[in-house]
Amino acid sequence: ANRLRLILGDQLNASHSWFRQTCPETLYVIAELKQETNYTRHHGQKVCAFFAAMDAFAKALQQAGHRVCYLTLDDTASFTDLPELFHSLIEQYQVTQFEYQLPDEYRLREQLANDMNFNTGVTTQAYETEHFYLSDSELNEYFKAGKKHRLEHFYRKMRKRVNLLMDGDNPEGGQWNYDAENRKKLTPADFEHVPEALVFSHDVSEIIARLKRHDIHTIGNMSQTLLWPVTRQEAQDLLVYFCRVCLVRFGQFQDAMTGQLDTLLSQRQWSLYHSRLSFAINSKMLSPQHVVDTAIASYRQAEGAISIAQIEGFVRQILGWREFVRGVYWANMPEYQQLNHLDATQALPNWFWDANTKMNCQHHAIKQSLDYAYAHHIQRLMVTGNFCLIAGIHPDEVDQWYLGIYIDAIEWVEMPNTRGMSQFADGGIVGSKAYAASGNYIKKMSDYCTDCHYKVNQIDTEDACPLNSMYWHFMDKHQHRFNANPRTRMVYANWLKKPEADRARILKHAHGLLANLDNI
Ligand code: FAD
Ligand code: SF4
Repeated sequence: ANRLRLILGDQLNASHSWFRQTCPETLYVIAELKQETNYTRHHGQKVCAFFAAMDAFAKALQQAGHRVCYLTLDDTASFTDLPELFHSLIEQYQVTQFEYQLPDEYRLREQLANDMNFNTGVTTQAYETEHFYLSDSELNEYFKAGKKHRLEHFYRKMRKRVNLLMDGDNPEGGQWNYDAENRKKLTPADFEHVPEALVFSHDVSEIIARLKRHDIHTIGNMSQTLLWPVTRQEAQDLLVYFCRVCLVRFGQFQDAMTGQLDTLLSQRQWSLYHSRLSFAINSKMLSPQHVVDTAIASYRQAEGAISIAQIEGFVRQILGWREFVRGVYWANMPEYQQLNHLDATQALPNWFWDANTKMNCQHHAIKQSLDYAYAHHIQRLMVTGNFCLIAGIHPDEVDQWYLGIYIDAIEWVEMPNTRGMSQFADGGIVGSKAYAASGNYIKKMSDYCTDCHYKVNQIDTEDACPLNSMYWHFMDKHQHRFNANPRTRMVYANWLKKPEADRARILKHAHGLLANLDNI
C-alpha cells in the first residue's frame, strides 16, 4: 500500500466518500489504542461498545472489498501513542500518503496536526467527516469565541436552512418550539404504556479479557454481554424501534423521571421514551440527517397520530442542540476546558462512583449510569448536574465523571453540556442561566421523593432534602452575579423576604452539608 488511511473509533461512517471506491493501494487502519482507553476513566461498557463497533466496521469494510488492518490492544500496546504507531506502520507498508478524517476532539486534532512529523517523503491530508449538518469549514460563520450564543436563534436558522418542519418561511404547526408541552410527569397510570428498551446482546468476553491483560481500568458494571448496538444494521433497528414505539410520547415525557424500576416498572423499561441513539450517532454509525429524516417520515406516515410537539422535540435535540454544542466547542477550545466562572472548588463526593447516597434522586441517576452507561438528559442536567452545580464541585472533576461514565461521552459534546449548560462554568456561552434547582423540581418531575430518606418539603431540619438549603446557599453566594438576570430576579425577591434569622439558619445548615458531602 502507498496510501494509509486512519479511521478513529468515532468515525464509523460507512457513507463517507472514502468508501465509494475500492483501491488496492489504500490500506485502512483501525486501532484499539491505550491512549484512548486511558485519557479518562471510562465506563467498561463504553470501551467494549467502541471496540466491538470498530471491529464490526472493519469487517464490513473488508466485505465491501477494502483493504483493512484492524489492530487490537495486543498489537498496539508496545507503542506509546498514535504517532509512534503510525511511524512504524508507514515504514512497514512503505506509505507515501497518510490521510485522516478531522477528529471531533481538540486533543486528537492537535495530535494529528502537530505530532506526526513524518519524513519529507510522506504527504498528509485531512478530510471532513461528512457527518454533521454543518461542515467544519462553516462553523466560524455561526459561532464566535466567547460570544453568548443562544440555541433558539441557531435552531431557527438551521430549520430554515435545511427546510425541516417548515411551512414556507414559518414553522410547521405555527410554533418553533413546543417545550412547554414537553414537561409531563409519569404517573402510575402511564407506566403500563412505557415500552421496553430494545437491547442487543453481544459477547464481549474477548474484549474484556484484553482490557484485563493490558491493565485498563474502567468504571461501572461490565457484563460479558453488551446491550448497545455495534453495527449500522442494529443502529438502524434501534432507530426504527424508536420511531415505531417511542416517538409518539417522546416529547411529552422527555423530562420525566421515575424511581419505580424495581417495583412498578420492569428493569427493561429504564430508558422510558428516549431513543438511546446517542452512541450510534456519535460513533457515526448513523448520520444525524438520516435519524432526523427517518423520524420525520414516521411522523408524516402516522397522519396525526403523532403530534408535532413530539417530533419537534426530537428534531430540536439533533438539528439544534447537537450541532449547537459542537459549534460552541470549536469556537472556544482550548480555553473552554479551563473555564470556571463560578469559582467552584469542591471535590466530587465518593458516592458518584458507587451510588451510595441517601438522596434517592442521586442514587437512582448514578446507579442507572453505573449499570447501563446511560442516563437521559434531565437526569444528567437536573439530578447529578444540578447537585454538582449547587454544591460547587470543581468543573474539572464534573467533566471527568461525565466524560467517563456515559456510552455517548466524547469531549466535543460532553464538555459544552457539562461545563457549560449544567455547571455554568462558561458564564453563559451555552445557556442563558444556571440550571440551579431545589428539591421541588425533582418532586415535580419524578417520584423519587416519595421513597427518599430526606423530606423534600423541609429546608433546614436534620432530614430536610439537602438540595433545598444548598440551593439557597448557591443563590445567596452568587447573588452579585445573578440578580441582574430577569429570570432569577423573582428568586431573590423570595429569598430576601425571609426573615434574616431564617436565612442564617438555612445557610448554616447548608454549610454543614457542604463540609460533609461524602456522607449525605
Ligand atoms: P434522546 O433523548 O433520545 O435524544 C435524541 C438525540 O438528541 C440524542 O441521541 C443526541 O444525539 C441528541 N441530543 C439530545 N440532547 C442533546 C444535547 N444536549 N447535546 C447534544 N446532543 C443532544 N450527549 C452526548 O451525546 N454525549 C455526552 O457526552 C453528553 N453529555 C452530557 C452531559 C450533561 C451534563 C448533559 C446535561 C447532557 C449531556 N448530553 C450528552 C446530552 C444528552 O443528555 C444525551 O445526548 C442524551 O441523553 C442521549 O440519550 P438518547 O440518545 O436517549 O437521547
Ligand atoms: Fe432528591 Fe431531595 Fe427528593 Fe430526596 S427529597 S429524592 S434528595 S429531591
